[in-house]
Amino acid sequence: MSDRPVLLSLRGLRKTFDTQEAVSGLDLEVFAGEFLTLLGPSGCGKTTTLRIIAGLEMPSAGSVLLDGQDITALAPEKRAVNTVFQNYALFPHMNVAKNIAYGLRMRGAGKEEIARKTAEMLELVQLTGYGKRMPGQLSGGQRQRVAIARSLILSPRILLLDEPLGALDLQLRRQMQVELKRMQQKLGITFIYITHDQEEALLMSDRVALMRGGRFVQVGTPLELYEHPQTAFAASFIGETNLIAGRAAAVKEGEVLLDIAGFSLPCESFDWITPGEELLLCVRAQRMHLSTEPVNAPCRLKGELVENHYAGGERTSLVRLPDGQTVRVRHSTENDAGLAPGSEVFCWWNMPSGVLVRDDREEGQ
Ligand code: ATP
Repeated sequence: MSDRPVLLSLRGLRKTFDTQEAVSGLDLEVFAGEFLTLLGPSGCGKTTTLRIIAGLEMPSAGSVLLDGQDITALAPEKRAVNTVFQNYALFPHMNVAKNIAYGLRMRGAGKEEIARKTAEMLELVQLTGYGKRMPGQLSGGQRQRVAIARSLILSPRILLLDEPLGALDLQLRRQMQVELKRMQQKLGITFIYITHDQEEALLMSDRVALMRGGRFVQVGTPLELYEHPQTAFAASFIGETNLIAGRAAAVKEGEVLLDIAGFSLPCESFDWITPGEELLLCVRAQRMHLSTEPVNAPCRLKGELVENHYAGGERTSLVRLPDGQTVRVRHSTENDAGLAPGSEVFCWWNMPSGVLVRDDREEGQ
């Protein structure tokens, strides 16, 4: 993505409502044609950021640049930016075709252009033949497709989508995720998307900007966020993870020896780690392995199996370490003997599956 030109820049964006700071200094570059998702817990500032980009909210400080031009003070309708909200906001008294064509009509487009572009949009959102229906005669998913078509007909440079699938049931949501991604790729329009569903963010995005307390915690590709979280918050917000507390006993040549419950475990080092520091080792539950026999792996812990939950194709096992911490292991039930709680077991992982992070979980949302 970074080989593409920068389309949108946020520079030092802040927004304070009364005494509350909703956005606390955001810097970000969004590339042309990118699908970027703002992900984070409720109240972290996602909608405020989107509203500032749309021109619906004036920042208290900082600027928004589109194609290098400062648009911070430009009215929403003068920006090549459109927004799709969760609640569709269709005109109930207009049929689907009229809803979709609304923006073009307001711009004074001719009949022929309106008819041609409306038909193109209906095809794009797979609603050809639905033009004469009223919004009340559509399902939630179809209504949202009309809302998307209505926003795309004006060919915006950027489409902002605020939880557009939030009101849909899970099955429809999954289907729409794939469709939205297909539309975005076909049109090559930059999408800035809000969700608090981390699975949705990983599935759809080129990059994810993880937010907390009005700031970006980590911005990267889904793979970077999942495989290389930079903080405990990032690790725990995305995917199911173990965060096992330990102490950096020795640091040398790119490796840290981490003391956990009497075991000395080699981990990849980072230049910010100091000897003696308390750290968390992040290992995804799916990357942990379980064995009843001692394993000859450098990264392994011994403990007692305390819980064993069968869930069809997968089993979740909880292992208590001698220091009282628990480790979660997710493993396939193929060749699974169904170990009894109370057994002595070994958990192990490949060294690259373990990432050291600092504990920032108690810091404000
Ligand atoms: P959610 O996922 O729940 O929609 P969000 O991440 O989109 O949350 P925002 O809606 O941007 O969060 O809100 C960020 C913070 O700013 C919240 O604490 C919110 O209460 C506050 N806030 C947002 N809009 C206003 C407003 N108009 N007046 C006062 N406070 C506001």
